[in-house]
Amino acid sequence: MEHLFDFISSSPTAFHASAHIASLLDENGFRRLEEGTSWQLDGGKGYYVVRNSSSLIAFRMPGTALPPESVMIAAAHLDSPAFKIKENAVLSGPGAYLRLSTEKYGGMIFSSWFDRPLSVAGRVMIRKEKGVRTSLVDLREPVALIPHVAIHMNRSVNDGYSYNPAVDLLPLWGIGENAKDFRAAVAENAGCAPDEILSTDLFLYNPMKGYAWNGLISAPRLDDLECAYAVLSGFWAQGFAKALPVACFFDNEEVGSQTKQGAASPFLLDVLSRITGALGVDLRTLLASGMMLSCDNAHGIHPNHPEYSDKNHTVTLNGGIVVKYNANQKYTSDAVSAALFRLICEEEGVPVQLYANRADIAGGSTLGNISTTQVALNTVDIGLAQLAMHSAFETAGERDPEYMIRALTRFFGTGLHADGNGAYSLF
Ligand code: ZN
Repeated sequence: MEHLFDFISSSPTAFHASAHIASLLDENGFRRLEEGTSWQLDGGKGYYVVRNSSSLIAFRMPGTALPPESVMIAAAHLDSPAFKIKENAVLSGPGAYLRLSTEKYGGMIFSSWFDRPLSVAGRVMIRKEKGVRTSLVDLREPVALIPHVAIHMNRSVNDGYSYNPAVDLLPLWGIGENAKDFRAAVAENAGCAPDEILSTDLFLYNPMKGYAWNGLISAPRLDDLECAYAVLSGFWAQGFAKALPVACFFDNEEVGSQTKQGAASPFLLDVLSRITGALGVDLRTLLASGMMLSCDNAHGIHPNHPEYSDKNHTVTLNGGIVVKYNANQKYTSDAVSAALFRLICEEEGVPVQLYANRADIAGGSTLGNISTTQVALNTVDIGLAQLAMHSAFETAGERDPEYMIRALTRFFGTGLHADGNGAYSLF
């Protein structure tokens, strides 16, 4: 479990998660490709592409001269709900306080961000001769905190108080003359002078390390770094198959994916088109015999509020991989994709549990149905059961990551053949 916690600690933002995955791929012999150059793809070699320093797609070329007969894609997201620090970052006063000016990124549980040590991470653009360069920043240490108002001054705080992000949630950076200058601290971490920074994408984050306890694990950003970790682990655990394995790590799922690097962008389509172009195979033919896993965490039954779960589709922590259904297709799972995924798990001896929202509760959405508008193939929405999704500190089951890694390893070692007329074979 320490590997998962290290992965999460190395990934305070999508920029860091992407850079961390890239460094692990580098260590394992993968080659980085740039979208702005032509690609030379060799058989049996692994490659990856990064867009916007925050989304990454890795793939492995088939090891033989034969073209792949199938494409097996798994996707997870690297971003998490957090407070983004605005460009004019420092708010002076009242008194000698220095606060940071922030806005919401995604939908977080506000109360979970109060009175806990917070740090700052992201990317900055630094001036260079006739251009700019990217530098990642991670202050690592606790440097900010969002203080509650004392209960004596707000007696209604326990009566369903409505927090205002423009007022209640502004983080305290320091006090008085001894407080470090925010921009200087960021520049020092980036290794440049403050006036060399032209623009920033900085976020507050919870720097607490994850830990295991009594069969559970708790950590920040389990949604969706737990699945991202499992996708990566399953991706390189397997050898070369007759199928093309592709691992996708997207930014911006928490804000709807509609960015140039999100699941709604043509990033995956662009990468697949270039691979199939190099292989001399038709992408549409390959997709017809392909499959995608959209991996994002699911809501486990809550110990104090079991009534929020559908009675017949209750999922438990440590109960195995969750297949998510939604009649309105917010989740992509349908009879075909779910059946194929259940077969893969069955072969691997991995337990599967089925999730659907209560019919009177609107659920969330995720990557799968958005990605299929760009790259259409049989897709199933899966995830691991967790508690307190979008809290600054989330909880999941200790046994589930291993189930997910095993299922993904099997998935990436499998190919799919469309037999026609609604029949499919795994090979
Ligand atoms: Zn998620």
